Amino acid sequence: MAKTVYIAGLGLIGASMALGIKRDHPDYEILGYNRSQASRDIALKEDMIDRATDDFVSFAPLADIIILSLPIKQTIAFIQELANLDLKDGVIISDAGSTKSAIVDAAEQYLAGKPVRFIGAHPMAGSHKTGAASADVNLFENAYYIFTPSSLTGQDTLEEMKDLLSGLHARFIEIDAKEHDRVTSQISHFPHILASSLMEQTAAYAQEHEMARRFAAGGFRDMTRIAESEPGMWTSILLSNRETILDRIEDFKERLDEVGQAISKGDEEQIWNFFNQAREQRQAMEIHKRGGVDSSYDLYVDVPDEEDVILRILELLRGTSLVNIHINEENREDIHGILQISFKNAQDLERAEHLITENTDYTVVIK
Ligand code: NAD
Repeated sequence: MAKTVYIAGLGLIGASMALGIKRDHPDYEILGYNRSQASRDIALKEDMIDRATDDFVSFAPLADIIILSLPIKQTIAFIQELANLDLKDGVIISDAGSTKSAIVDAAEQYLAGKPVRFIGAHPMAGSHKTGAASADVNLFENAYYIFTPSSLTGQDTLEEMKDLLSGLHARFIEIDAKEHDRVTSQISHFPHILASSLMEQTAAYAQEHEMARRFAAGGFRDMTRIAESEPGMWTSILLSNRETILDRIEDFKERLDEVGQAISKGDEEQIWNFFNQAREQRQAMEIHKRGGVDSSYDLYVDVPDEEDVILRILELLRGTSLVNIHINEENREDIHGILQISFKNAQDLERAEHLITENTDYTVVIK
């Protein structure tokens, strides 16, 4: 039976979800709320949604499923508003917030006793881009789509959500909201703090030591890439997961102190062990395998640093969809080739490897 889905917030995540839902359910009606007109207009013009509003409450009673894809604070405010509306019986309310406990707690508080179902969710895909203009039907492909069930979730809720979102081609997984926030504090929230601190430390240092800017290369770039993330989103993430993140900061300070002490003692063995242990742990980690959280399908081509060579390779790959191209121009230590091309899936990667090895003499390495 065709359903009516209401997506509130037609930003990168909400609009990409609309596209993914339409892919498998072209008969579903998708309603969209957005505060600003620009994303509403784009979503309508690109057929991501069927109808749009700037008045959140107006479409809510029409929906079988409501997805709040808004900043965390606003998600909580809208859950509170939904509690006072006359919604369809059994409506499913879900969200996309990057932290879960605050949202799930609010839902359990405001929606308890109402004839609605709630399931927290966090699609673990995204980018630094914002707004409906950046929507991408493939954004969630192979990404974890985390559900955090609560007292307002039944097994049927989960099945209905998985069916609704099948066109996202994501990997669905369930986890307790608090555990979600603990895990993401370590592998996502704290690394963002670290990247931004390192960036700020370096910028301050470079005022006195100008060459620091010029010499910053591959390793520094890898460590600070996420310092370019959207500040508003990260502020709300930190503020909605305070205790857990503070705990990670304290733990890290102790680790830094330990290395500092080993250096000041000149303890060669301890320093060697420190690096060696980290190296072994990283090599054993999921990110080295296909299908890890951030996995992409990367191919490295060892080519001379000449523009026409790169153009020639891209010409060979015409018709294969690339997700990223990186030219490692400065520092070739620890990378396999100067040209790094990322693909969305294994078939495209294999096709590209075949095309390049058949048509050129360049060495191709797949990590
Ligand atoms: P976005 O900036 O592209 O979109 C945010 C949406 O919220 C827009 O539609 C905007 O109009 C709306 N909005 C913002 N403040 C509002 C307010 N006060 N009242 C009403 N509407 C308001 O951001 P996004 O990346 O789509 O993020 C949406 C949610 O998804 C956030 O909770 C974010 O934490 C989460 N998320 C983001 C990513 C990512 O990497 N971008 C990944 C996973 C989850």
